[in-house]
Amino acid sequence: MDIKERMAIPRQQPRELPAAERISNFDEVVFGFDDDTARREAERCLQCKKPKCREGCPIHNDIPGFIRLIREGKIEEAYWLDRQTNTLPAVCSRVCPHEFQCEGYCIRGKKGDSVAIGMLERYIVDWMVSHGKNILQSCALPNKHKVAIVGSGPAGMSVAYYLAKEGYACTIFESLPVTGGMLTVGIPPYRLPRSIIAAEFEALRNCGVQVISGVTIGKDKTLTDLKDEGYEAVFLGPGAHVSRKLGAEGEDLEGVVHGVDYLRRVNLGENVDLGPNVVVVGGGNVAIDCARTALRYGSQNVFILYRRGRDEMPASKAEIHHLEEEGVRIETLAAPVQVHGENGRLKRIECIRMQLGECDASGCCRPEPVEGSNFMIEADAVIPAISQDVDVTAGSGVELALSRWGTFEVDETTLQTSEPWIFAAGDAVLGPQTVAKAVFQAKEAAESIHRLIQGKDLKADR
Ligand SMILES: Cc1cc2nc3c(=O)[nH]c(=O)nc-3n(C[C@H](O)[C@H](O)[C@H](O)COP(=O)(O)OP(=O)(O)OC[C@H]3O[C@@H](n4cnc5c(N)ncnc54)[C@H](O)[C@@H]3O)c2cc1C
Ligand code: SF4
Repeated sequence: MDIKERMAIPRQQPRELPAAERISNFDEVVFGFDDDTARREAERCLQCKKPKCREGCPIHNDIPGFIRLIREGKIEEAYWLDRQTNTLPAVCSRVCPHEFQCEGYCIRGKKGDSVAIGMLERYIVDWMVSHGKNILQSCALPNKHKVAIVGSGPAGMSVAYYLAKEGYACTIFESLPVTGGMLTVGIPPYRLPRSIIAAEFEALRNCGVQVISGVTIGKDKTLTDLKDEGYEAVFLGPGAHVSRKLGAEGEDLEGVVHGVDYLRRVNLGENVDLGPNVVVVGGGNVAIDCARTALRYGSQNVFILYRRGRDEMPASKAEIHHLEEEGVRIETLAAPVQVHGENGRLKRIECIRMQLGECDASGCCRPEPVEGSNFMIEADAVIPAISQDVDVTAGSGVELALSRWGTFEVDETTLQTSEPWIFAAGDAVLGPQTVAKAVFQAKEAAESIHRLIQGKDLKADR
């Protein structure tokens, strides 16, 4: 069985809420494992000598290690082992696309269900919390070195964790009035309860990290200002918050709301009334989050329009399953052509059927329009959710090299930008990716900042 087939196996989702209840429940979708289920699931792990799961994990967590400790009933030890490499286990256990990462590689998955690694990681975090255990890392006594961190998303949070642990005086500058980056203004609360993000920031503040919201670096203050204020190094983690445009005629009509802009507005507390008929364009998790959020805010007929086939949808299978169960229709092999309106307001979206043409070496086939197959969908709102770009405002005033994708260019190993005292990681470097990838890169960037300030070689033994 290849990885694609394995990913198609529906994952075991214990004690799920029914769809209707889920839509009315804004906070939590799936309850975690109880002690017996966790122990039984941990017993299924083969404790492989060369664990494939670990290779598939972007952070390379010691997965068999923490599973073995769960089997032995040493849950607290399991938590601390996981936490050694993962700064955000409570977040990652809930939102990581496990089927494409650790679980997609698990050897058990070759002949059935892979070990439910995500649920086990979630179990150890939940166990710590429900048993009143300290989930915070201890921090070193503060030293005199100041580091500025731009952006309070997973990348910025992780750099702050690692450096504060070593005693650095870290200040996070965040342009929004809220902290957490896409964890707060992207991922909906029914997938990631906000109490988890709040607890992470409480932990950071307890470690002496200062968080200043409502300041946009590059506008309110420049990187050079930060240097003049005595920050010895700056970490850039501004993410990728600029919605990519469809490029279709009529995209500026009232009623077209771009994906991450829509989620940001809703997550900041605005009641965005889209109307009953909504078409979301895109096949990734952002599109699915938009569709499921629209349902929760009262829209009734929600469509997903995706230009390739269902098997090619980049969203996780579990999310697609929930989406359909909640009544969203997926229109595959269809793409928008034009948005039509009256008096400046959207009325319908014109689409065209697609077929898959030439495939590249990775098996990704190019969608091609089928001539003369245009059709219309009546819509009160259209949400393009096809991708995001990086806003490089943070770098204003300093000539930082950019890649051809408009992301910050960095050294692969050290995450150093073209300015030696500035480092960058996460979506701002990789383009829109995942929490785990941001956490991993951020850890490497923190190591580089530590070495830079201590006058050590940034590359030695890495
Ligand atoms: C809707 C949605 C759903 C997602 N679902 C998942 C999922 O299920 N699993 C998963 O692993 N990943 C998911 N992701 C992706 C994940 O959230 C990102 O990969 C991750 O948050 C990137 O972290 P980051 O720290 O690089 O950037 P971000 O989380 O984007 O944080 C960047 C922060 O920097 C701030 N900022 C930007 N510019 C400036 C400036 N000039 N000055 C000060 N502050 C600034 C921004 O306001 C933001 O708070 C999702 C993303 C979205 C949008
Ligand atoms: S690959 Fe699967 S079975 Fe093997 S150690 Fe990892 S979780 Fe256990």
